[in-house]
Amino acid sequence: MHRIGFGTDVHRLVAGRPLVVGGVRIESGVGAYGHSDADALLHAATDAVLGALALGDIGTHFPSTDERWRNAESAEFLSYAVGLAAERGYEIVNVDSVIDLERPKLQPYIHSIRARLANLLRVDIGRVSVKAKTGEMVDAVGGGDAIRAQAIVLLVQKA
Ligand code: MG
Repeated sequence: MHRIGFGTDVHRLVAGRPLVVGGVRIESGVGAYGHSDADALLHAATDAVLGALALGDIGTHFPSTDERWRNAESAEFLSYAVGLAAERGYEIVNVDSVIDLERPKLQPYIHSIRARLANLLRVDIGRVSVKAKTGEMVDAVGGGDAIRAQAIVLLVQKA
């Protein structure tokens, strides 16, 4: 059996915070505001995996009211979701994703982000697609005030 899942996330960009995308630290004058490390791509990917399993969303499993997750590495959230999939006999077939960020350009980081995602998803890097776009100066992303990420994932149940 195959199952598909989709996730999306947005975080405001503010001074004095690190910018972490797909588990990779990005050189930037602003960072993403949030309870955890505010990694929009890993949050979207986590929601995609949870969604494929119909097991709720990231907020169900890691409430932002819980002090345990303050400044937490979002890699922990995705690893947890992949673990839930594995417990049910599912593994990742592939993932596709889009990051919308006005600046800086993410192209120099794409390979590192794919490698990190592949590691967390327990698949070969060839199964992980990460695309980066700007907001074309439209809305909060285009104004440089936010980062948005979307991810879609396909799972397959082994025997
Ligand atoms: Mg988030």
